[in-house]
Amino acid sequence: MADLEYSRGLHDLGGGCHAWLEPDGSWGWSNAGLVVGDGESLLFDTLFDVPMTRAMLDGMAGLTGSAPIRTVVNSHSNGDHWFGNQLFPDARILTSAATAEEMQHSGPELIMGLRDSPGGPGRFAREIFAPFDWTDCDPLRPTDTFSGRRDLDVGGVEVQLLELGPAHTAGDSVAWVPSAGVLFTGDLLFIGGTPIIWAGPLRNWVRACDTMLALEPAHVVPGHGPVTDGAGIRQVREYLLFVEEEATKRFEAGMDPVEAMHDIALGRFGEWAESGRIAQNVMAVYLELDPTLEKPDTREVFARVATMEGFRD
Ligand SMILES: [Zn+2]
Repeated sequence: MADLEYSRGLHDLGGGCHAWLEPDGSWGWSNAGLVVGDGESLLFDTLFDVPMTRAMLDGMAGLTGSAPIRTVVNSHSNGDHWFGNQLFPDARILTSAATAEEMQHSGPELIMGLRDSPGGPGRFAREIFAPFDWTDCDPLRPTDTFSGRRDLDVGGVEVQLLELGPAHTAGDSVAWVPSAGVLFTGDLLFIGGTPIIWAGPLRNWVRACDTMLALEPAHVVPGHGPVTDGAGIRQVREYLLFVEEEATKRFEAGMDPVEAMHDIALGRFGEWAESGRIAQNVMAVYLELDPTLEKPDTREVFARVATMEGFRD
């Protein structure tokens, strides 16, 4: 693939496909995609807040002036991929049915509430969410849903929406543009940062990686981090299998999940940002091995990740 600079803004991938990148890809700094056809465009994901999303639209105006965004796809239910939806009152807003369902309890109030948590987790939330502005944030919900697959014609450009979740969340979907060899993955890929298994099962995420690899994409736009190709997909796949193996060993040895998250030596994966997400990833494996375990809520998960990231009470 062409070496693409990892800089903020729009990057042309050819065939009407563009990536909007938001370095450094850590918490809330997500990417989006634009597919420009004849007289209309499709936007793959909005950003974490309205001002950022507005700035992105301004940056795309040269392309969308003659090809307005008629379709917005939300890859999944995390706010950094749909909290800018209110800027598209006239567009069709499309997502998987499982994502639409999950969005009902993943609105801005959940994120804002984390900032009010006591102690280390609250400090962690206030630090990572400080750059974002959710004043008057009231994101539009999807106007249309699909399950499995939906093929779209965006002004003559074929776009396939493929639902590959549950994995990162309940209804993760990717957009594949065969004529350009471009794949927009949402958070099925974090590049340079650590993936987080909010939903699982882990093996379904591995299968999602296999499905993405089989497409043999030339350019892969991850949910977070720089544009990559098959090599980036393989790295995420390796991380998932590493987590599965290490967590399973400790489960079988009778270690509790909190002990296990501290005990695992991440090795080369420790060089990825947000490595504290191992806390939730271990829990995801434990819950698969013993469904009777109590599932921690988002606040508790966040507190464990904060501890791993050095924000203790
Ligand atoms: Zn994200």
